[in-house]
Amino acid sequence: MMRDILKLRLRTWLNVWVFTVTMTIGTVLACAFLVTVIYPDQLRALMGFRAILITTLITIPFAFFVGSKLRENTLLSDELVRLVNRDRLTDVATRDFFFRRMESDPNAYGVSLMVDIDHFKQVNDTHGHYAGDAVIKHVSDVLRGEVREQDILCRFGGEEFVVFLHEVSADQGLVIAERMRAAVAAAAAPVEGRAIAVTVSIGGSLKERLADINVSIQQADAALYRAKGDGRNRTVVDWLPAATEEARRS
Ligand code: GH3
Ligand code: MG
Ligand code: MG
Repeated sequence: MMRDILKLRLRTWLNVWVFTVTMTIGTVLACAFLVTVIYPDQLRALMGFRAILITTLITIPFAFFVGSKLRENTLLSDELVRLVNRDRLTDVATRDFFFRRMESDPNAYGVSLMVDIDHFKQVNDTHGHYAGDAVIKHVSDVLRGEVREQDILCRFGGEEFVVFLHEVSADQGLVIAERMRAAVAAAAAPVEGRAIAVTVSIGGSLKERLADINVSIQQADAALYRAKGDGRNRTVVDWLPAATEEARRS
């Protein structure tokens, strides 16, 4: 808490009061020092206490006012950061946050996954856009349940998500992607008393250290395109040739 206060990042009323008391003590000590140094003995005896009292009475409301303004600004900047970093509907990371995080860590390696809800337009057309939104939220919750703390799950666009699995091998990446796909298929979305069946297709690619994340995402997108073409509700990874994958499935 003290670190936040020293950085003038006040979030709670307790922070504001600690700031007010600290400012007041500091000002009163400075005033007492000046009274001791500047005032001659006689004047100090006569006015010293009053000078300190007046300083205290002025500082308390002033410091409280400044503290509450600092709190207002801190909460506002927290909200701005949250709006830029978290998607409003799903509360997963935004695309901006994803790229900033990945670009700040060029050494990151692992597996990129592009996840797209199947036939989502039909969900909107059949159940309406509100139900569609609820399905997107449901899918993001299921996906979140399958990723670890160190992975990044972001809403890439309308009904598309990108997941970066940090420091996982190709085999592990495929297992996790399949687990995500199966988890979504197994849990129909509960919307307004109905259960809407939903599936996703997933495309995966590898990202080596220092490789461009944009290239990896494009490769995952191309694999996703193949998953759609192969019939949807499936995972296709670009490091396995189609034939090998068919063999793996059978
Ligand atoms: P495919 O299996 O090939 O992915 O088919 P699809 O219908 O899922 O894909 P398509 O790209 O044709 O349609 C995606 C739809 O998603 C179109 C758009 O209106 C809808 N959509 C995009 N963003 C949102 C959103 O935030 N909320 C809702 N309800 N719908 C959205
Ligand atoms: Mg799409
Ligand atoms: Mg889709």
